[in-house]
Amino acid sequence: MSDKAIFLDRDDTLIEDPGYISSPEQVNLLTGVPRALIELKALGYKLVVVTNQSAVARGIVTEKVLGEIHKRLERLLAEKNTFLDRIYYCPYHPDGAVKKYRQESELRKPNPGMLLKAAEEMDLDLDQSWCVGNSSSDIGAGLRAGCKTILIDLPSRRQQLKPNDPRPDYKAINIKEVVNIIKKHLRSSIETETETKTEPEVQAEPVKQETEKVPEATAPVEQETEQIPEAVEPASQAAELTPEVAEPVISTEEQQLGQTLEETQAEPTEQVEQEIAVEGTEQLLKSINTQLKNMQRTDMFGEFSIMRLIAGIIQIIVLFCLLISIWFLISPDRQDNSVFIALGFAMVLQLMSLTFYIMHGRK
Ligand SMILES: [Mg+2]
Repeated sequence: MSDKAIFLDRDDTLIEDPGYISSPEQVNLLTGVPRALIELKALGYKLVVVTNQSAVARGIVTEKVLGEIHKRLERLLAEKNTFLDRIYYCPYHPDGAVKKYRQESELRKPNPGMLLKAAEEMDLDLDQSWCVGNSSSDIGAGLRAGCKTILIDLPSRRQQLKPNDPRPDYKAINIKEVVNIIKKHLRSSIETETETKTEPEVQAEPVKQETEKVPEATAPVEQETEQIPEAVEPASQAAELTPEVAEPVISTEEQQLGQTLEETQAEPTEQVEQEIAVEGTEQLLKSINTQLKNMQRTDMFGEFSIMRLIAGIIQIIVLFCLLISIWFLISPDRQDNSVFIALGFAMVLQLMSLTFYIMHGRK
């Protein structure tokens, strides 16, 4: 049985992209990447990096240094208890400065060469696989290979899709959302499978609507020829960078369900996107509600002031003076002077109390 895979772009998908990475020290994982890879592994996917590295053709980095860069990437992931199954890269570019790499290549995204090569070498089922990246060339390669696609639209690197750019099946703001989208897709597929089992007369059409929505005619960002240079064999070197790994952790039943549902899945992309948007809105409203509660608490404490405290104390003393004056009035040896003195104190203190309240109000 073929494996399913997540094809991952490298720069601005797994690691920070400062422009061209020319040394291992420049490799820094993006936030949330190790956790996301662990979760994708647990869902039963092989993790395969497919990356255009025109820096090799431009003479910015050699393949040897590129290998060290990828070893550093794997080491950083290993420190977080996760790993990649394989790394494929394309060193070619038609405008390269290094003659050896100056050529068109079927491996170079948006061409699907790296994905097709990985599928052949690793026995991958492309129909069950996903292609994830932050550029239209990633999406183009994924669609041409027959995968489902997710465009990571980083808020810090937001880019406008051009009219001719291939449209992804889904959009995410980071790799964490990528995991959520894939989980949601698997869940809805399992539910579809369950419904199909309970209603056998209703046969779901074997679907590949999402892929069909983006026809081959949709031009990728960079128009390159479809010819595959015979001399191109970069993947074999990339393969040496990554060891073979253990089978992913996932139950047989879930895997079977996930695979079967892939064939019957027919949920429209727009509906899923709407559900994701609703979830996002609910989270946003909860966040706003929490913020408002915090602000109310802050305001409550903010009303406290020394002047209000003093005014309150004086008010108590006023009440005490009034009680004394009443006591003088009803006492057997009534003394009017004492009553007037107590009432006078009460009036003066009451005025002071009011003054403090007014001063507090104007603060
Ligand atoms: Mg990228």
